[in-house]
Amino acid sequence: MVNYDVIIIGGGAAGFFAAINIAEQNPKLKVAILERGKTGLQKVKVSGGGRCNVTHAEFMPNGLVKNYPRGEKELLGPFHQFMTGDTMDWFEKRGIQLKIEDDGRIFPVTDSSQTIIDCFIKETKKHKVEVFYNHSVNAIEYQNETWHLTTSEGDFTSEKLVIATGSNPKIWQLLENLGHTILQPVPSLFTFNIKDERIKDIPGVVVNHVFAKVLNKVSPFGDMSRRDREDDLVSEGPLLITHWGMSAPAILKLSAFGALELAKREYKFQIEINFIRQSFKDCLEQLKSIKQQLSKKTVFKSVQFDLPKRLWQQLVLASEIKEGKRWADLNRQQLESLTAQLTRAVFNVDGKSTFKEEFVTAGGVDLKEINFKTFESKLHPGLYFAGEVINVDAVTGGFNFQNAWTGAFIVAKSISEWNIRC
Ligand SMILES: Cc1cc2nc3c(=O)[nH]c(=O)nc-3n(C[C@H](O)[C@H](O)[C@H](O)COP(=O)(O)OP(=O)(O)OC[C@H]3O[C@@H](n4cnc5c(N)ncnc54)[C@H](O)[C@@H]3O)c2cc1C
Repeated sequence: MVNYDVIIIGGGAAGFFAAINIAEQNPKLKVAILERGKTGLQKVKVSGGGRCNVTHAEFMPNGLVKNYPRGEKELLGPFHQFMTGDTMDWFEKRGIQLKIEDDGRIFPVTDSSQTIIDCFIKETKKHKVEVFYNHSVNAIEYQNETWHLTTSEGDFTSEKLVIATGSNPKIWQLLENLGHTILQPVPSLFTFNIKDERIKDIPGVVVNHVFAKVLNKVSPFGDMSRRDREDDLVSEGPLLITHWGMSAPAILKLSAFGALELAKREYKFQIEINFIRQSFKDCLEQLKSIKQQLSKKTVFKSVQFDLPKRLWQQLVLASEIKEGKRWADLNRQQLESLTAQLTRAVFNVDGKSTFKEEFVTAGGVDLKEINFKTFESKLHPGLYFAGEVINVDAVTGGFNFQNAWTGAFIVAKSISEWNIRC
């Protein structure tokens, strides 16, 4: 039996960040990480396409929380304690230079996740955090104010226990046995599989800014009204046509905010894309005026609304307008059909694919059972959570790591202020 003041289960982003900060803030505490893998930080390694998108350039807590389909309300207070700017400071103070990209994502200037891993390994050594690899935790018990852990390599005890095991079903089961409620895990951040003539031959096409929405079964058509825009399953942003369907933030946001609903629908549903972010009426008026101005030109060749040429041509053909047709010869029906393709194009989604740069799981420990001032369990004193193990997840862009850093930092602050008995 090996005893530590603090044990962290899980050597991922949240686990390392918690351990380093605890040991740094209170060097008297004996801190250990138990990690089931033969190395830790595996998700950090592959994150952001190998570049590790550590956080996002959103510096207001009120704005930041909007990126969390689950956790928006609960993370507001924690973000006032440890924000994206604090994350940047933390890494920069440890010699890691960061850069902000045009879309707000923040990466190490090296463009390598190994930079972050090296920093964590160096800091654990510096602050004498012990890391036990190949130690899978199989049982957790609380007796005599002490946590007893059974691992594949022997038993451990500690007074404070931090669970940072990400989306691990075994640990969720053990937490259920301790009385915690676990919300059903479902995937979040995925791309949509779509087989459709309009996009079949144009993979790689990007539209910089679209409106997208998941149609509900009751009212499948209509303009993007204010009411719709307030609905959870509406998004906007860049859209990428892929070999399998559609991706990029406009789609990934729908997959995150709709994670539970889309799982219920078994990933079979319809989406509507407004490629030009105009109402049907405004677009129709504009097309009528283009018809006057470009009367002798062919519709197929005169790309409008700054759309990528190949997409424009597909939408023209889908509107039953032949390649050689001139603007002057368009009838009302064709104008309306083109308007519909541009502003309310409906696509059938049949399944999902993994977004390779980032994915997470919605679900986990019920947020009602966590005290967000400390990230301590409301059910068991001395039990803390950080990272993806709780029912928090975010859209793509560095927000998932920010949840891990913020939770882990607050756990560390709370534990390091504890007056150790001996
Ligand atoms: C491909 C990919 C790319 C991503 N890219 C980004 C990105 O660029 N930016 C971003 O913000 N987010 C990204 N994410 C999401 C981000 O990686 C996670 O939100 C984050 O890693 C969660 O950290 P965590 O410490 O909670 O969990 P994890 O990183 O999953 O770590 C949990 C650790 O616990 C260990 N563990 C589990 N069970 C046990 C057990 N029983 N005993 C001992 N150890 C155990 C696991 O082996 C693991 O090492 C990405 C995710 C993926 C999959």
